Amino acid sequence: MKKVLMMIPGPTPVDKSILEALSRETISHLDPELVKTLKETLNYLKKIVGCNSGEAFIMPGTGTLGMEVALVNSLKKGDKLLVVSHGFFGDRFVEIARVFGIEVEVLTCQWGKIVEVEKIAQKLKEKNFDAITITHVDTSTGVCAPLQEIGEVLKEFPNTQYIVDGVCATGGVEERMDDWGIDVLFTGNQKAIGVPPGLANAVFNKKALERRNALGNIHGYYSDINRWLPIMREPGEGYFSTHAINTVFALHKGLQMILEEGLEERYNRHKRYSLACKKGLKELGFDLLVPKEIRASTVSTVLYPPNFEDTSFRKKLYENGVLVSAGKGVLAGKIFRLGHMGNITENEILCTLSIIEKTLSEINYDFKWGAGLGAAEKVLFENNHT
Ligand code: PMP
Repeated sequence: MKKVLMMIPGPTPVDKSILEALSRETISHLDPELVKTLKETLNYLKKIVGCNSGEAFIMPGTGTLGMEVALVNSLKKGDKLLVVSHGFFGDRFVEIARVFGIEVEVLTCQWGKIVEVEKIAQKLKEKNFDAITITHVDTSTGVCAPLQEIGEVLKEFPNTQYIVDGVCATGGVEERMDDWGIDVLFTGNQKAIGVPPGLANAVFNKKALERRNALGNIHGYYSDINRWLPIMREPGEGYFSTHAINTVFALHKGLQMILEEGLEERYNRHKRYSLACKKGLKELGFDLLVPKEIRASTVSTVLYPPNFEDTSFRKKLYENGVLVSAGKGVLAGKIFRLGHMGNITENEILCTLSIIEKTLSEINYDFKWGAGLGAAEKVLFENNHT
């Protein structure tokens, strides 16, 4: 059977050492080893997202549970939420908030662009919002939101809770909760962290924990952080819900690998891989959906030239050994999405560009052989060896 490179924007390929952690013997949720591992994992998470105070929560679930956890522990029915949406996952906040009777206003823009920070500032001046949500990298469009700048604006609005979706960013793009004034940040496992899916990982700062307490009873049981809090503080002393024990071991290993690589080095590696892919694809005649200044380094959204057949290209690419994702919503048929995050290597980047060239030649697309691969090699090797 041919091994297919999973170059989609999550789940991402999983390193062998993480798979080994996942496949180890299952132990009790009260076992001292699990207790120690969970405590360390919570600390690693806080370190990676730059939160010195507050609490981290690791819950069986996925990124979508993280979204729900962030909202129900920050807002009650009738509270006002400003959603800044840059695509499919930004819009999901609107759906979730409405389920809980939260009053939502949305600031949005053409897919592939970002809402200007001045527009956000203007909206916040016009009306009091209890919280604002922003998706760090919207996986559907490949834009990266200016979290730090938005944080600066929010300094003037201390009653507006700053909630960030880090699902397609954490572990691959810099996030500094304390420095940028982020109150709640959540992520999953399966993207830049490079661990199999199965956990929702959230960090609430001190202010956000106080907000949760001020809400009293909330419309959530499993998603109520106050039910999880005792278990996160003292995992060996009680029970709330059986943890995904083996996935916790995998996450522990995944976060440890991030810290061992070094945050700065890891973010730079993501930038390098991203640039290699983007330059390579441009040399092959593809444009990118997103303007340079706001391009994510975890995913590329690649525009097809006119009259290019999306489905048959992706099918052939898959048969040749590389899996990429289709465009979502209004971008369906117009783009493909290439993930380049987590624990992938230079070899996988180069192999992907080489297989893209092979596939393009099979569909009689006009391009210069080796141009994409050469451009990628230049980025990877020049930066590495000079
Ligand atoms: N937010 C973003 C930015 C995402 O990319 C995703 C998943 N692709 C989600 C939220 C939802 O996460 P999950 O699929 O793990 O529930």
